[in-house]
Amino acid sequence: MCRDVTTVQQWNIAQMVKYLGSHQLCVLFAEVYGLLPKSRLCAIHKTQMALHKRHQVGYFKCSRGNCRTKSLISRAAGTWFEGVKISFPHVFYLMYCFAHRFTREGIYRENYVSVEKKLSSATITDWYSYCREAVVIFQLDHQEFKGEIGGPGKVVQIDESKFGKRKYNKGNNNNLYIYNAIMFIQILFFFSGRRVEGHWVLGMIEDGSEDLRLEVCPENVRSAEVLIPLIRKHVHEGTTIRTDFWRAYECLPEYGYNHEKVNHSDPGNPFVAEDGTHTQRIESHWRVVKRLFYKDNYNNPANFADVIVEFLWRREIQKKHTDPFIALLGVIKYVRLT
Ligand SMILES: [Zn+2]
Repeated sequence: MCRDVTTVQQWNIAQMVKYLGSHQLCVLFAEVYGLLPKSRLCAIHKTQMALHKRHQVGYFKCSRGNCRTKSLISRAAGTWFEGVKISFPHVFYLMYCFAHRFTREGIYRENYVSVEKKLSSATITDWYSYCREAVVIFQLDHQEFKGEIGGPGKVVQIDESKFGKRKYNKGNNNNLYIYNAIMFIQILFFFSGRRVEGHWVLGMIEDGSEDLRLEVCPENVRSAEVLIPLIRKHVHEGTTIRTDFWRAYECLPEYGYNHEKVNHSDPGNPFVAEDGTHTQRIESHWRVVKRLFYKDNYNNPANFADVIVEFLWRREIQKKHTDPFIALLGVIKYVRLT
């Protein structure tokens, strides 16, 4: 089984059943993937402890000196599986569901794990939260190395969008879009656990690149004091920055940027400036980001910023054509063993 399982490039339900359908298979798999340790050093003797493969996942025991009388250490201690209250096949199944963004209905429909007890709504919510939390830690640790976008001679489009509220009402009569926007507001309402005015998110993208940068505006303010530091964090000096007429951007030249303004409020041509410059790329990215939110089944109050970070992670694995389940396994391994 072990050799097969490491060569799987794309996981589907059939493979989940085949390789992760029983407790024993799950434990073996966790070992192969480095989610469960195969060995452990005694903190006192600095020697290998013996691994006893009894109980759920086995335990470690040192047989030297006084250690003999000491309690056993579960192999799950400090791992993703510490203190789990559901079966191992269910743990992996819920990870698979999160990776593929199953809705609650989907989770119940596809559930192949035969157990007496049905997964409760709270359990699903908990495990989705654990997965999201791990993804956020992983993603934040990995995005710092990306550096700045833009540079002299390059164009970066910048726009703020209010999540939970349509920014541009004119020039768009797409009913489906309006319906989705309403859905989206309701979901935001749900996961914030309070009345939502909307969250300002700053988006930045360089022309000719897919490297979208997103920042949630602290305190939900989009003043120059908030926006400029976020822009300087991501966008190289000397870049030509294209924005709408929002006054917070007026001071961009003071920070070494060339500034071009585009009038979104022209209903006939909302994305084209007087000099013919376009901003529809950043607009189309907003549509992709927003699609993520209303597709998800958020019954659980989550941090909005976390959802943005999760989006960035999903976007990156999609770009690299990484299997979502394999990507999540990597995340869990990184978060729990580093
Ligand atoms: Zn010892």
